[in-house]
Amino acid sequence: MEPKLCKKGHSYFPVLNAKGKLKECPECNRVRARAWNASNKERHRARSKKWVENNRERHLAKVASDYASNRKERIAKTIAWQRANPDKYNAKQRAWCKANLGKMNAKTAKRHAAKMQRTPKWLTNQHYEQIKEIYLSANALGLTVDHIVPLQGANVSGLHVPWNLRLLPASINYAKGNKTGGV
Ligand SMILES: [Zn+2]
Repeated sequence: MEPKLCKKGHSYFPVLNAKGKLKECPECNRVRARAWNASNKERHRARSKKWVENNRERHLAKVASDYASNRKERIAKTIAWQRANPDKYNAKQRAWCKANLGKMNAKTAKRHAAKMQRTPKWLTNQHYEQIKEIYLSANALGLTVDHIVPLQGANVSGLHVPWNLRLLPASINYAKGNKTGGV
């Protein structure tokens, strides 16, 4: 089949509809749909909502796949914004913490408890010194301490021991935490 040029100059492969008539050029159709949606915002929203209600599974699958495929870019974009707007970012962080004090405290307490429960009794003073060293160098280098095997992993739980610790840039640690639910 030969591609056809529509009146607007889009190249497309002609397809017949159920009534045997030639379908509109897909690009023109998209343009028309976008224009309609823009000038019928309320009706478009209602239609979309209804579609989502009737196609819950497909909608969720699409959201999940969009999320997965854009995850890296979105994280990179967020980090770039945070770097470019440190004052705004800090203000936002502070506001969030203030508004979510309970949540923050719970999170810290939970992490602390997990660390305590995952710190074996047989650790020697030398091990504690090593752990302290790792946290001190993280501070000095502007890095965060990551548990290689997460303390609160979904399937396995790591130990709070020197050989399960490593230094990571905060951004990577954050991305990893999102995936494994690690600490
Ligand atoms: Zn066209």
